[in-house]
Amino acid sequence: MLPIAIHAARALTPFEEISDAVVVVQGSKISAVGQRGMVAVPRGAREIAARGKTIVPGFVDVHIHGAGGHDVMEGTREALEIIVATVARYGTTSLLATTVTASEMQTCRSVAGIARFIFATGLSPVRELGAEILGIHFEGPFISHTRRGVHPAEWIAAPSPALLSRFLEEAQGTGEILTLAPELPGALELIAAARKAGLVVSLGHTDASHEQAQAAIAAGARHATHVFNAMRPFSHRDTGVVGAVLTSPDVSAELIADGVHVDAAAMRMLLDLKTPERVILVSDGTAATGMPDGKHQLGTFEVTVSGGVCRNAEGKLAGSTLTLDRALRNIVALGVPLASALRMVTANPARQLGLGSRKGVLAAGADADLVFLDANLEISGVMTRGAGLS
Ligand SMILES: [Zn+2]
Repeated sequence: MLPIAIHAARALTPFEEISDAVVVVQGSKISAVGQRGMVAVPRGAREIAARGKTIVPGFVDVHIHGAGGHDVMEGTREALEIIVATVARYGTTSLLATTVTASEMQTCRSVAGIARFIFATGLSPVRELGAEILGIHFEGPFISHTRRGVHPAEWIAAPSPALLSRFLEEAQGTGEILTLAPELPGALELIAAARKAGLVVSLGHTDASHEQAQAAIAAGARHATHVFNAMRPFSHRDTGVVGAVLTSPDVSAELIADGVHVDAAAMRMLLDLKTPERVILVSDGTAATGMPDGKHQLGTFEVTVSGGVCRNAEGKLAGSTLTLDRALRNIVALGVPLASALRMVTANPARQLGLGSRKGVLAAGADADLVFLDANLEISGVMTRGAGLS
């Protein structure tokens, strides 16, 4: 394959801003990034001019359930292909397939299907635009009944290292994040088991007190799932899990920045307290993403989408139709500098997964996952592992 040299008005790596930028792509990787004249463009390279555009790393979504009419719980190649193709159009170039609370059998079947897909696609060269599935985020079943949101009560399970290892067997090494409620009896043992298995432990769907959350952080929890949503609310004398997350520098915080899940003032509090380095924007996107309003599936249950907002039959928020390009624009609209906002969809999630040199960054040796933004921060082009840019 010919090398490609892409010229743009600027690039945000996102740690550095490069004006008059050149990004050289060889196969599925970036081979060089820098200012025009400072980067050797290989002889015979195909030159692409992205005039007036800003090149940024592709977005990494660590919490997404589906898109394009399909849910990752379907676990089939067809469903997953549609999901990765749909989100790539909105700039998401890698993601964690996120499960919902379901029966042991259903979860095992879904996880096995996702793992099969990851291994199958990992072996074949990338020819079309499509996000890479980096692994699995288990959202449940070890969650709080009180804060389950729309997760089905009948499948919520008590913390069980044995059940977790069943899931991890099916996942064949693709498990990445486990969301759990740390106040449940046995949660600390489960945290220990999950960490031993190499998972990032996330506090979520939880009614934990400050002390219970703090104990989980001391035991190694390093992430918090869609902060403010499906958590005991903050009060100044009972700060709960929110208080613990906001004041623990080692814990990264997911935020659904669609303007519906979390109020603007609460988003500002989170951004200020966690700093731009510890906020991770997630979509919590469902099958309804990229689809018209109407009825859609989330995991095994039905949600109704109206005006792009997903709710279940009781009217509870049920995931979103948010895409990370929109989340980025929403955060910039709060007054956050673009480079800082960008870290929250690129470098921060990549670092949380231990993939900081391969994903979420424009650097030699990183995957050629590129997003082209216009002056309004709308997507004008996307490349996934060297493919998809016409
Ligand atoms: Zn959730």
